[in-house]
Amino acid sequence: MRYISTRGKAPALGFEDVLLTGLATDGGLYVPETMPSFSQQEIAAMSGMEYPELAFTIMKPFVDGAIPDDDFKRLIDESYATFRHKAVAPMVQLGHNEWVLELFHGPTLAFKDFALQLLGRLFDYVLKRRNERVAIMGATSGDTGSAAIEGCRSCKNIDIFILHPHNRVSDIQRRQMTSVLEDNVFNIAVEGNFDDCQNMVKQSFADQSFLPEGRRLAAVNSINWARIMAQIVYYFWAGLAVGAPEKKLAFSVPTGNFGDIFAGYLAKQMGLPIAQLVIATNKNDILHRFMSQNKYEKHELSHTLSPSMDIMISSNFERALFELGGQDAEQLNQFMVDFEAGSASISDEAFAKARELFDSCAVDDETTLETVREVFAESGYLLDPHSAIGFKAARECVRDTSIPMITLATAHPAKFADAAKAAGQKTAPALPEHMADLPTREERYSVQPHDIKVIQQYVADSLK
Ligand SMILES: *Cc1c(COP(=O)(O)O)cnc(C)c1O
Repeated sequence: MRYISTRGKAPALGFEDVLLTGLATDGGLYVPETMPSFSQQEIAAMSGMEYPELAFTIMKPFVDGAIPDDDFKRLIDESYATFRHKAVAPMVQLGHNEWVLELFHGPTLAFKDFALQLLGRLFDYVLKRRNERVAIMGATSGDTGSAAIEGCRSCKNIDIFILHPHNRVSDIQRRQMTSVLEDNVFNIAVEGNFDDCQNMVKQSFADQSFLPEGRRLAAVNSINWARIMAQIVYYFWAGLAVGAPEKKLAFSVPTGNFGDIFAGYLAKQMGLPIAQLVIATNKNDILHRFMSQNKYEKHELSHTLSPSMDIMISSNFERALFELGGQDAEQLNQFMVDFEAGSASISDEAFAKARELFDSCAVDDETTLETVREVFAESGYLLDPHSAIGFKAARECVRDTSIPMITLATAHPAKFADAAKAAGQKTAPALPEHMADLPTREERYSVQPHDIKVIQQYVADSLK
């Protein structure tokens, strides 16, 4: 399996290199040159598999022998053994053909654990084999940082540095990161905002000369292909649970950077009979505006009750545009030039294809809270604000009520206790048992100024 860049000017890579590379050298994102696919019979044969076995079956063609099967199986088993539900990703029915896929039973209570538990172990495995150490540098406004730290805490060949804006992440989110005390884990609280953190990380990737000879940075954000790969699995998992491949399926996905829903699009390319994919956004609705008018334009950032979807640009959307345009890198480069200049569109033909594949809906804070209240009143089920946006969008966009509609529940409601209270819950939703002592755990982090030289020096000095 070869991976190519969406911008067409970077070398094609195999799985191991694509894993260790972030952005391609031409600024593009890596995608598989051709998609593997499964026949209806092959998909039918997957029903009854436990989650790790299904994960191995779906991901094997992407790894394509770069890791021996037995080793890859072991890494998968270890990754999903950290989840606190025996089903790994349980399905809950909330109405006639209305389902919720709970993706929040991992160690940090958000769906990002599905990819990052595996990513950390994959990194560790190939680095050991190469006898190499890397530094991970990432910026977080909440969920990615804690999931990445959990995924890498026991990786012997990784030092991980996560920048978060000082005093601007929730108490629970900070503690999930800073109570991990392994000596390869470094939390940096930056005296600045999330954009400051992200810009310093970007600059550090672009010029890595602050690192000692032979050391490089690796990426944990969703531009890393391996994250997308791991997310394809649970679309098959949920589909099989409600009768695929005989039955058609619809999914609604709370969307920020377009990583999660792009995995759904790929599941469809691989043969899963997905009839509908709903892009659910909050007020930061660049994708909904694009789907409505074929205009891709940046607006100002809004802070919402669903902070993990607060983005101005959806970085993974580039991968979808590349596929919609028939893998035409020339065309995509032009699109990005137009976008930087203010506004970009795709051809009428590609736009028609996009509208056939995706529906979209933007949900504001008020409607988010209403939905949390409504669903709780209907069935006693408490959605977190991100999942509520997905659920609302599912109801708004549904095309055919005879098809099971599956909303991806991306976070545990206890992670966003304030929203739950604002939606009328009398008490904050309880943290799961294994995290109940989080508020009293010892923390370790370093407060640093918004100064890239100081941060890079801190990173260089801390490396093992
Ligand atoms: C990251 C995140 C999202 C958005 O996922 P993308 O892959 O960026 O679209 C949605 N909900 C939660 C809880 C998240 O942490």
